[in-house]
Amino acid sequence: MTAPRERGLRERERLLFEVSSPGRRGIDLPPSEYPDAGTGGIDGRHLRAEIDGFPELSEFDVVRHFTRLSRWNYAIDLGLYPLGSCTMKYNPRFNENAARIEGFACSHPLAAEEDAQGTLALIHELERMLAEITGMRAVSLQPPAGASGEQTGVMMMRSLLADRGERRSIVLIPDSAHGTNPASARLCGFGVETVPSGANGRLDVDALRTRLGPDVAGLMLTNPNTLGIFEDRIAEICAWVHEAGGLVYMDGANMNALVGVHRAGDAGVDVMHLNLHKTFSTPHGGGGPGAGAVAVAAALEPYLPVPRVVHENGRYRWQEDRPRSVGRVATFHGHFGMMVRAYAYILALGAPGLRRNTELAVLNSRYLRRRLSDTMSPAYSTPSLHEVVFSDRHLDGTGVTTIDVAKRLMDYGFHAPTVYFPLVVKGAIMIEPTESEGKHELDLFVAAVEAIQREVREEPERVRSSPHTTPIGRLDEAAAARRPVLRWRREEE
Ligand SMILES: *Cc1c(COP(=O)(O)O)cnc(C)c1O
Repeated sequence: MTAPRERGLRERERLLFEVSSPGRRGIDLPPSEYPDAGTGGIDGRHLRAEIDGFPELSEFDVVRHFTRLSRWNYAIDLGLYPLGSCTMKYNPRFNENAARIEGFACSHPLAAEEDAQGTLALIHELERMLAEITGMRAVSLQPPAGASGEQTGVMMMRSLLADRGERRSIVLIPDSAHGTNPASARLCGFGVETVPSGANGRLDVDALRTRLGPDVAGLMLTNPNTLGIFEDRIAEICAWVHEAGGLVYMDGANMNALVGVHRAGDAGVDVMHLNLHKTFSTPHGGGGPGAGAVAVAAALEPYLPVPRVVHENGRYRWQEDRPRSVGRVATFHGHFGMMVRAYAYILALGAPGLRRNTELAVLNSRYLRRRLSDTMSPAYSTPSLHEVVFSDRHLDGTGVTTIDVAKRLMDYGFHAPTVYFPLVVKGAIMIEPTESEGKHELDLFVAAVEAIQREVREEPERVRSSPHTTPIGRLDEAAAARRPVLRWRREEE
């Protein structure tokens, strides 16, 4: 028998259900003076009665459990988090302070307009800043995630086409697109057709032009695309789609490569979304709140979600009466805390600072691309912007796969990059360092990748069986997907 803590911090953390000890409790409330008043659900006896096997624990038991689990976590605040297409960048604490200002943090979504002038002003001003950054006419901050921004955008496209009396049923989407793009189009009732990428990693414009026609509602294009490559013919692409009567949706989740340098609106894009939780430095991951601001050209402005903040005679108010609006897409007004963070971020940097961050994000990515090209195989020779995609060609014949390398990186203290996406690259590894990293951290990452590639040649089994230093080793992902255990059972059952 090994001592329970022999493996130090890698010891398995038991479920709260397993460490329950009858009679332990977190808080003791004195008996109520009003026996019939109820306890608002605070009394553990109700929970114990409702949930079979509800754990009984002290407050300290619970604090230790969650604190220990939190130390297993990896976060951008611990080191490089090179998850491509996700823009995991540093979130300045200044933004957090702003979001915690009492008047913002405690403002109620149903507060009267005259009591909420500051929050309304912030929403209005942030919308105008984002409109300027994207070159679009107007912005709504209501969609609570990128995918929700997409759906809102496609709903607006559908409404505009319907008002024009058009029956167009197909949305064209490049083969490198994020899975949310076809999902958004399908949710809005459109059929989806794929446009291939060319050998240079850009959209095959000939294939696009051939397919355009009276049944095509529009194109959903990510720019720079998910290979990190700028669609340099974006203005022509918009003109062709418009000529054929369609609309152009731009997935702006990769705006970290463009802010301050290129404006989608100037190129002729009709509607796009931004991920404030990626580009505009608000924490994300782990299912936390998002903000998928949607930006539109003039023709789509009447369709934006309600309510809108309007500024009239020196005061701000909610406008509900917008007959052509697609309606509400979120409860209340979206995730306001994320808006405060994005607003603070933009004001703190100013226009020159935003542009400089874009330049640094591209510089860091190109540095990694250059340094890693001796070890790994870039998927395309076309220069990439803020992220770089490698194929698994450098692993050919070794018996080691992309997922093995990703797992082994954890042993070297890094979060794994995005893997097996985009689907057009075999065994893809997609790396996005962001502007947050200094050269030292990037060099450590390069050294880790080089060390792993040496292991691939000399002791491939060590890579294949990784990770070795995490509390939980290699999971059987197929079994986890096919036979998930979603319910805790007591041992005796
Ligand atoms: C992240 C991302 C999305 C979706 O954003 P969510 O906020 O996760 O819904 C869409 N497209 C691309 C290219 C992305 O990287």
